[in-house]
Amino acid sequence: MKFSSPFPKYSTLHLFIEFVVGKIYFQGIDDVDVDTVMRRDAKGRFWMNDALDFHHLSHQSFREWLADRNVSDEEVDEDTLRAYINALYDSGPLEKLLLQMVEEIFFLMFMNREFLRKYHEMVSSCVKTAELDLLSKSDCDHFASDGVLKRSHIPMWAQRAVFYRDRGACAICMTDLTGIVCIGNRKHFDHMVALQNGGVNCVTNLQLLCETCNLSKGADSSVTSTKYESWY
Ligand SMILES: [Zn+2]
Repeated sequence: MKFSSPFPKYSTLHLFIEFVVGKIYFQGIDDVDVDTVMRRDAKGRFWMNDALDFHHLSHQSFREWLADRNVSDEEVDEDTLRAYINALYDSGPLEKLLLQMVEEIFFLMFMNREFLRKYHEMVSSCVKTAELDLLSKSDCDHFASDGVLKRSHIPMWAQRAVFYRDRGACAICMTDLTGIVCIGNRKHFDHMVALQNGGVNCVTNLQLLCETCNLSKGADSSVTSTKYESWY
């Protein structure tokens, strides 16, 4: 089970975004029409080259690649295009593009707690179905019982990421938890979707809460808020 390891830096959300982007991307490649590409390329560029250039990833353009092989425009067919795309993938730039897009999307999505809460509700529906008898030994070690993962120590990097994302304030009541002025407010790192409810040990499933909000949150409820501090 992909979601069982505690606190991977390449988080469950990275995996999910990679899956979605990869699906859209490669489906897009399957749908590429050679005539359209050649018409566009005759004017200048193939969209894939534009995407790689936009992300500053050096690569050989489709037209340069054709010229190297002495392939004329008339000879270009779907196999030629596919061979070029495979060459881009094998030489690295397409894989780098995919990973860069994953990081950019992650950056945006990690800031939106309500999205993360809904995403982890979805993940929990998968975790809840896990049966220890059917899991590998290594996966099994991460579970406390069927459908429930063991509590795991939250690494410092994950605590820092969540603390700074939530800007040192309780995600629900906005109480200041920086400890700079009010040293009595204790900070809690809360699993938005609780472990006992199919939640996972992932930085994207955490939020910063004050003690009062954390203790008053029902064990079975996944709660966050859409309150965000104004940038200005
Ligand atoms: Zn609070």
